[in-house]
Amino acid sequence: MPTPSSILAGRERALAEVDLEAIRHNVRRLSRDLPAGAVHCAVVKANGYGHGAVPVARAALEAGSRWLGVATATEAEELRDAGLDAPVIIFGPMTGAELERAARARADVVVWSAPFARAALRLGARCHVKFDSGMGRLGVDEEHVRELARLLASGPSSLVGLMSHFATADEADTTFFEYQLGRFTALARELKAAYSDLICHTANSAATIRSPASHFDMVRTGIALYGLAPSNDDPFKDGLRPAMRLSSYVAGVRVVQPGQSVGYGRRFVAERPSRIAVVPIGYADGISRALTNRGDVLVAGRRCRITGTISMDQLTVLLPEEHGRPGDEVVFFGESSGERILCEEVARLLRTINYEVVCDVSPRVVRRYRGAAPAA
Ligand SMILES: *Cc1c(COP(=O)(O)O)cnc(C)c1O
Repeated sequence: MPTPSSILAGRERALAEVDLEAIRHNVRRLSRDLPAGAVHCAVVKANGYGHGAVPVARAALEAGSRWLGVATATEAEELRDAGLDAPVIIFGPMTGAELERAARARADVVVWSAPFARAALRLGARCHVKFDSGMGRLGVDEEHVRELARLLASGPSSLVGLMSHFATADEADTTFFEYQLGRFTALARELKAAYSDLICHTANSAATIRSPASHFDMVRTGIALYGLAPSNDDPFKDGLRPAMRLSSYVAGVRVVQPGQSVGYGRRFVAERPSRIAVVPIGYADGISRALTNRGDVLVAGRRCRITGTISMDQLTVLLPEEHGRPGDEVVFFGESSGERILCEEVARLLRTINYEVVCDVSPRVVRRYRGAAPAA
């Protein structure tokens, strides 16, 4: 009999494997239809949607991305601290202190108010004016965009870009998308006549895939960079390759008898003798507690149902007869022996989107990278 330690050698309790070749493939796919001169911005905010900002950024730049997009000054600093030199743009609002850190990190910033524009001018920061073409969050209308552009153009190199963001680019009904694109197209044309070097950009992943007319000078793709479908359907249909695979392993198997229960709240009570696998991954790793008694995993390549309450560090799975042993791999999303679970499937069960499923993979989960370029 093998000892438990020899059975389990080589497993991580919770492992996110990220395929950097998939990232490179997705960059090439997303750059395929760009007009001459237009560039790809790899959006690596939120730790690269859970995949790891720095390794993803490196792989994206290797495959031809020219810009990196983040949401906060801290995220821009992380890229600079890792030695990445590419232009970085920070999308989110910032306090004065954050703006100073952004300028020190040589990151471009997004501007939609005159006081912020003046502070950015004083710091010599490169700015992109945010046009609210219909998102209805931050950003300003045409008139205020013109004013901000004039103000920023008084600095040596402060006026760099014009940007906007789509609210419905992933939806089947394109009416509002076309409305936003029309407004952006008109304003971009007008401002480029006055400022010929202006970089105009508005496409997220969904728009990049759907509409070449939305590409302008740069596209900013997040979700599709990671091989996930912007509309939460099948990413393979759009020629994308999912980069992340999330797994754990069977730490133990027990047989419960009729009437016996498993886990907190006794949410599973056996009606017949049942084999239950205990898997050392839980909601603190990013497996939503809402998957209690729902959702499949692949145990050694075969679909099995999550059964019983998901706890912080463990969950339980009902095993079919004769299948599943301690040490077997358990895959939450990704491929295993020709079977596959997509993040999109998990997201639908949770009534959310794939973005949230990967962002939830917590820091406690070990990241392992495949396909890294050899060190120079
Ligand atoms: C996050 C973000 C994106 C990327 O959106 P995806 O739908 O993930 O492609 C693009 N632009 C801005 C301003 C963003 O904040």
